[in-house]
Amino acid sequence: MSRINLKSAATLREPTELVAHGLASAADLPDLEKVAARYAVAVTPDIAALIDPGDPDDPIARQFIPSAEELVAQPGENADPIGDHAHSPVAGIVHRYPDRVLFKLVHVCAVYCRFCFRREMVGPGKATALSSNAYNGALDYIRAHSEIWEVILTGGDPLMLSPRRLGEIMADLAAIDHVKIIRIHTRVPVADPARISAEMVAALKVEGAATWVALHANHARELTRKARAACAAMIDAGIPMVSQSVLLRGVNDNVAALEALMRAFVECRIKPYYLHHGDLAPGTAHLRTTLEHGQQLMRDLRGRVSGLCQPDYVLDIPGGYGKAPVGPSYLSQANSPLGEGELEPETRYRVVDYCGDVHRYPPKP
Ligand code: SF4
Repeated sequence: MSRINLKSAATLREPTELVAHGLASAADLPDLEKVAARYAVAVTPDIAALIDPGDPDDPIARQFIPSAEELVAQPGENADPIGDHAHSPVAGIVHRYPDRVLFKLVHVCAVYCRFCFRREMVGPGKATALSSNAYNGALDYIRAHSEIWEVILTGGDPLMLSPRRLGEIMADLAAIDHVKIIRIHTRVPVADPARISAEMVAALKVEGAATWVALHANHARELTRKARAACAAMIDAGIPMVSQSVLLRGVNDNVAALEALMRAFVECRIKPYYLHHGDLAPGTAHLRTTLEHGQQLMRDLRGRVSGLCQPDYVLDIPGGYGKAPVGPSYLSQANSPLGEGELEPETRYRVVDYCGDVHRYPPKP
């Protein structure tokens, strides 16, 4: 493997830079310029160093290096695929479920994922952060809704804020009596682990609310030694972590890759939480799998790793109707199509074990 050394380099943001560093082909440049004019591009030195330029199917490159396929939108794809706008009562807030809100503080990220469900909303060309008025309006909204127990800082990536600003925001939220949980969704520990400084960790800890951090990573190789150290710094400080991954064709859509990813999370003391089915974001069809394939992968995963390593496979229902678990079911009624033959009337259920074998419940006396 001939990975490039970009230790001292800056984040790559232009297709010409990707070509110059051997991460994209010069022949593709005209198309990549068109993609970059529409969707933000950023590849940090830490991520660039993970890419094998000699591998046309590199699973890290597929996540971050733009592709001409992004210029092709499929029917059903949508600029707001999970319906954030339909549930945004004030700027910066998405209130989809009664007891929690998304609080979108910034519109920038350390890296830009080619499958991003908010790709029409994030990037340097978009508003970079909430204005002071909008921030205060969002806080007022949270204060006025006593049912809000959990505030999820997302974006954009909230860990792109300075520790000082993040600390102020955490304190503002924790001062609201009914806010008990502040959850931070981030890709920074893998994309730019040096940002997880002692000051950043201190900013995340706050009196009056519990902080949780949800790490977005999709391939075990993203959990480098530096990324693991960044996560350990937060966990050792008392901040529990969960994971979020997206099921992506050519990245993690085989059981060995998923198994390695989930084991890596657990080794880092990060509980696998969600495996998202790819959202219908424009120009991302080449990275999506089918739901049937996702379900089969979840069955295969259950046969190989413990419950600690099992994420929930979820689909965000287009239109803003929220998440639905879409993993396979292991229990069925006796007369359902699962399994062979008829069961005695007193045997009401069939249940499938981790090897795929079907059993009766209650067992035949
Ligand atoms: S880090 Fe999250 S918000 Fe940013 S580009 Fe990736 S998926 Fe989108």
